[in-house]
Amino acid sequence: MPVRTGVRFEDVAQDGDGVLVTLREGDELVRERADVLVGADGVQSAVRERLWPSGGPLLWSGIRMWRGVAEGEQIMDGATVLVGGSNRAGKFVTYHISARNPRLINWVAEVKVDEPGVVSAADWYRRGSSAEVSAHFASWKFRLADIGALLSATDRILEYPMVDRDPLPQWRQGRVTLLGDAAHPMYPIGSNGGSQAVLDARVLARCLATHDDAERGLAAYEEERRPPTSALVLAHRALPIEETITLVTERAPNGFGGIREVLSEEELAAMADAQRSISDADVRALNERESWSV
Ligand SMILES: Cc1cc2nc3c(=O)[nH]c(=O)nc-3n(C[C@H](O)[C@H](O)[C@H](O)COP(=O)(O)OP(=O)(O)OC[C@H]3O[C@@H](n4cnc5c(N)ncnc54)[C@H](O)[C@@H]3O)c2cc1C
Repeated sequence: MPVRTGVRFEDVAQDGDGVLVTLREGDELVRERADVLVGADGVQSAVRERLWPSGGPLLWSGIRMWRGVAEGEQIMDGATVLVGGSNRAGKFVTYHISARNPRLINWVAEVKVDEPGVVSAADWYRRGSSAEVSAHFASWKFRLADIGALLSATDRILEYPMVDRDPLPQWRQGRVTLLGDAAHPMYPIGSNGGSQAVLDARVLARCLATHDDAERGLAAYEEERRPPTSALVLAHRALPIEETITLVTERAPNGFGGIREVLSEEELAAMADAQRSISDADVRALNERESWSV
């Protein structure tokens, strides 16, 4: 079946044999029959809304995020993520994103601007204000990076509220299920949302291929993927790295020469282990694990 772009999911009905999906294509409504429907339609999923209309609103942390791409001086070895500040007040993150253009730097700025609460929308492509982000960060100049210069060199800034949703107790209804951000939107601060969506898709494909009955395949997929992704959603609300940054700020409010002046070896190791269990892949375990191919 070819990929079709430009169609919007509107509704779904199902019987024992399959699903009948209503899609909007321009001004027209079209209907398609299929064995199953997988809602992979992102943080504001219409499929999730159709399945679980009271399944949890968008929850805003009170943190506003801005991001942009600009050319700048190489930061350290060109392969290091530089994090300054804390997302309880203001945080700035930079990393290089192109081997072909080593000057290209992606940046993300986070500022706590409000108390946590429910919001109705979370648009990734909302234009951000350069003046607003500069008001918080233009004066930041580290030995390793000039944040003000990076902001001045950025043409286009995007703004996004840091949102997630409470984990659902169930994804599937019959032959319809959810995947990726539609199923488990999480704060985009642990490098996990996109990766987890890919893992969902890989497990889903295997479960559908290894079960003759489509509903059983979808149930097996949910059994494998819902518990770990639900735990990740909650873990991203208090990442070990954020807790550690807060602890360092409390212990050394006037700065420090080296991190070992502030944290013991045991504390550093515990933080690294805790963070790795959530955010950074265990490469060896990944390479040694049996392939999911069927
Ligand atoms: C600032 C920021 C930084 C991030 N950094 C990282 C990172 O470093 N690493 C990482 O792994 N993840 C990161 N993420 C998260 C990652 O981008 C998402 O988790 C990932 O894109 C989710 O993929 P998805 O396919 O589930 O949803 P999406 O990528 O949102 O795709 C959903 C698709 O569904 C379409 N759609 C919406 N409504 C409908 C409808 N009614 N009918 C049909 N189609 C519809 C949309 O047009 C879109 O194409 C970041 C996110 C943000 C905002």
